[in-house]
Order: sequence, then structure tokens, then C-alpha cells
Amino acid sequence: MKKLLWIWGVVVGHAVSAHPGHEGLVMVGAPAVPAEVSITVEGAVRVIRANGIPNHPTGPFPGRGNPNAIAAQKYEFRVPAEPRAGVKPTPNGMNNFGVAVNGVVFDPAAAEWWRDDRSSGWQYEALGGGRNLGVDGEHAHVQPNGAYHYHGIPEALVAKLTAGQLRMVLVGWAADGFPIYGPLIPSVPDELGSPVKNAVSSYRLKTTERAGGPGGKPDGKFIQDWEYVAGAGDLDECNGRTGVTPEFPSGTYYYVLTEQYPFIPRMWRGTPDASFLRKGPPGGGPDGGKKKKQKQAP
Ligand SMILES: [Zn+2]
Repeated sequence: MKKLLWIWGVVVGHAVSAHPGHEGLVMVGAPAVPAEVSITVEGAVRVIRANGIPNHPTGPFPGRGNPNAIAAQKYEFRVPAEPRAGVKPTPNGMNNFGVAVNGVVFDPAAAEWWRDDRSSGWQYEALGGGRNLGVDGEHAHVQPNGAYHYHGIPEALVAKLTAGQLRMVLVGWAADGFPIYGPLIPSVPDELGSPVKNAVSSYRLKTTERAGGPGGKPDGKFIQDWEYVAGAGDLDECNGRTGVTPEFPSGTYYYVLTEQYPFIPRMWRGTPDASFLRKGPPGGGPDGGKKKKQKQAP
């Protein structure tokens, strides 16, 4: 009976999914399946097929703040092999920003709103500390459909890719086809041999009191606490820049994961492929905390 109630709780949680649009089956007691990922270029398209299972240890899921178990997905993402910048940036909204080279998605925005009211316009930043969303040491947690996803730098993946060295590594692919690196970048954008540094974003906390909503001084709990200040850091409003990389020695636009907001970019420089965009009606509701309450409901 207890187990039945638990299953019911997860299903209900899924119905009010934090990140709307995932329509995968809810799996209870996910099998310990190995990570599977293939990245191939087929004609003009880079195709990323993956089961979304991480290739590194994770926190305990279900766990505190996140009641969902990790389950295999059937991802097939398609991005242009030769991406192009658009006229102006496209906000990422509630979509997957991209996918890591291990097949785990970058899904930065949590559907968590001040007073659980999406219309308030005040959205909790997943890593802002305003709500316990049960993220693990990889800044990741799990959707009701079992999709493990990153809200920040995947530390274990980066450590695996760098093999302990201080160097720039390709971490993933954005939905518009541009590569994702980080957090280390060359100090001189067009000199790959220049000393690496931790990339600094150009977002800063606003200095004036919040107008409306929760009020008070901006402290990073909400996405709306941040503003882009051109030239304040190394990166543009899409948390990217142009330069040479190990994979693109003649230069490319690339995104960078940063240790401070936005952690994962929130805007695309180019046009995102539909394979990354959520379908279905926009949902609301919490990523973790409230589902726990629902789980306990009669
Ligand atoms: Zn999340």
C-alpha cells in the first residue's frame, strides 16, 4: 500500500511537472543501466542520441527536496553541424539549453515561482538557495519522468574530461549547434596557448530594491535579481564569446559554463533546434519541494 501511494505521488508530481513537457513514462525503481551516448555528424546535422543516464556518481534520488528516481530516456537531439548566429539572442525559457557530451541535458530553469504564482514574474533561480530543490554535487537533480539534468557545472564530468589538468574542454552542445565549454577558458580568446582562467560572466546582482514581488534587496534567489552588464566579465549576454578552441582552432562562437550566475546560459546566440524544445502546454508547480507535499496528501 505504501508503495502504491508512493507511485501515485510520483505520477501526480509528473502531472504538474516542474519542467513542463516531458511526457516520458514514470519508472519506479529505475534499473541501474549504463550511460549510453553517441554523437555523430550526419550530413549537415550533428545528432546526439543518449539515454540520459549520467556517467558519474550522483546524489541519492529520490532524496530530500527531489522525490524522483533517475530513469533512462530516449533522446535524439539534432543541431546544425555548422551553426549560425541569429540577428538577436533567443531566450532559453523553460527549455533544455543543450546536452552534455555524456548525454545528460542542461536544463537551467526551474519552474519555481514566488508564492507558486507564475504570473508574479518572480522565478526562483534553481541554485539561488531560495528553495531546496535537492540538487546533488553535480548541480543536478531529476524530473518526475526520471530525466537527470544539470542546473550548473557538472563537476564530475568536467573532472573526467580534463583528467585533472587545467585546460579548456568541450562539455556539450547547445540547441543552436554551438559548442559549450567551461569553466576554464584561455585568457586571450584567440590564443589557445594562453594561460587558462575561470570564465567570469557579465551578470551582476541588481543594486536597487526589488520592485514588487517579494521586495527586498536582490540576493540571487530570483532570476530577476540579475542583470547583464556589458563588459563586466569575459562573456556576452548569452554567456559566450568568440575565440579559438581545441576543436575549432580557427575560431568559433562558443558558450561557457560559469561558477556564478547564469551558470548555464539562458539565451541562445543562434536558433535552437526543435528537438530541444518542450512540447505541450506550459506547466507550473515545483521542481521538488511541493511534490513532496503532494506525495503526502491523502
Ligand atoms: Zn531541475
